[in-house]
Amino acid sequence: MDIIGITFITNLMDEKIIEDGFILKVYEKVNEYLDLNDLHDIRLVLLSKTSIDPIYRMSLETKTGEVRAYPLNVVVDTLYHRLLEEREDLLWEPREKAQNEEISPVERNKLRFNKIIGIVSFPLVDRNNYFGYYERFLGIQKRKGEKRIMVLSMMPFLSVNERVFLDRITKGILHEIGHSYGLSHCENNCVMHPPKNVDDWDLRKPHFCPKCLAELKGNAGWI
Ligand SMILES: [Zn+2]
Ligand SMILES: [Zn+2]
Repeated sequence: MDIIGITFITNLMDEKIIEDGFILKVYEKVNEYLDLNDLHDIRLVLLSKTSIDPIYRMSLETKTGEVRAYPLNVVVDTLYHRLLEEREDLLWEPREKAQNEEISPVERNKLRFNKIIGIVSFPLVDRNNYFGYYERFLGIQKRKGEKRIMVLSMMPFLSVNERVFLDRITKGILHEIGHSYGLSHCENNCVMHPPKNVDDWDLRKPHFCPKCLAELKGNAGWI
């Protein structure tokens, strides 16, 4: 069983962008889509919010005014440390505590917890480049040893319709999960086919095509 942690990265400025409970809906929907794709060996676990030290906050001048941003490397490092902490809690708890847990020690040994996804509502800055805050689709992945850190910016998916917003983000997460198992982009009607624009993304079904699904399961060592 592979476990992927999901967390909302926030600061005080962002909190009004999404309502409490939205990330819970994202988490539930991704797990639902994983089941629809017959991917029962991957489970998302919902982590509490992650905060970034305000010392790293930057201000960007844009056509529409000042925007607060954080450097991508700080976000990645913060997520990486969060992953290490959560792994320790889940996989290496003291024995006496483990007896009361739902997960038995045998099951615990079968768990792999090497991936984390951070959902951000602010722009990310890499060196001097300002990632297109409103244009850029899908996410960014960094590898540290066998660990994968995924960052998904929610703003390109924004919609006044919460159901639409939720579906766009959820498919974005499936796409990133695909990359984290070594999948490349795909030309089929598939969640690994990158969208030209958000309307294109809305038409995409939340499915991996048979080729991508087989590759994912093979790369994960399940077939
Ligand atoms: Zn991609
Ligand atoms: Zn595909």
